[in-house]
Amino acid sequence: EYVLINQSILPKEEAYININDRGYHFGDGIYEVIRIYEQKPFALDLHLSRLASSAEKLDLPLPYSIEELKVLLLSLVEKNTITNGTIYFQVTRGIAPRNHLYSRETESTLTAFTQVFASDKQLEDGIHVWLTPDIRWLRCDIKTINLLGNVLAKREAADNQCHEAIMHRDRILTEGSSSNLFLVKDHVLYTHPATNLILNGITRQIVIQLALNEGIDVIEEPFPFDVLEHADEAFITSTSMEITPINQVKGELTTTIPLGPVTKRLRDLFKNQL
Ligand code: PMP
Repeated sequence: EYVLINQSILPKEEAYININDRGYHFGDGIYEVIRIYEQKPFALDLHLSRLASSAEKLDLPLPYSIEELKVLLLSLVEKNTITNGTIYFQVTRGIAPRNHLYSRETESTLTAFTQVFASDKQLEDGIHVWLTPDIRWLRCDIKTINLLGNVLAKREAADNQCHEAIMHRDRILTEGSSSNLFLVKDHVLYTHPATNLILNGITRQIVIQLALNEGIDVIEEPFPFDVLEHADEAFITSTSMEITPINQVKGELTTTIPLGPVTKRLRDLFKNQL
């Protein structure tokens, strides 16, 4: 098994991170996870352009061009002969003595690894989700490696026998701890707009496009969590969970939601375009 550090592909055992990497001190970095289906990276260009946008928002220089990154990532996938799995990669603000103040001269560090991974069939019937306050910062649109609000929410969900946490800010539903949230009411799709309060998921963007192509209206507006009680259907989206139905909400509100035709249709369309 090989990993990538900057431009070197090395055996995992030989790869080391410098103790002074700002990613390690401050969580000062960004990342992406891309799905590999039958040896092909899915939506690679969309992920790379989101990485570029995260980098820009954080005044963090990418160490290589998008084209160079593509070549490096594809060579790692090939080296590890990944058929179905994921590639994780991150860029940190590089190695410097610990200091909040960053220099613009520090060279960013690129690291990447692959994981063998297949869709979890158990999720297809739906999952339980835990409704909890969104305690994250106000730049959730940036895909940073700083994920404390997300990991605490995920743990809380698991401690309450739920597969995912869905979060709300002052009663307005934002997103999942590692996914975006959609509701269906009267055959219309509802989701939080792509503001600073959510990550604009690549799966989210693809699902919205599939829905529009199918003649399903999509309304991107903030809505309070009470509407969960009136939803016809609900699902979450992410690179690893694809389109996963929600069948039960627990926590600050308890309700059951059936698996319905819009979710099924979108899931079929999603699978068909892979
Ligand atoms: N929101 C958050 C907070 C996430 O961490 C993720 C997945 N990393 C998503 C949404 C879904 O994004 P994507 O569809 O690009 O995987």
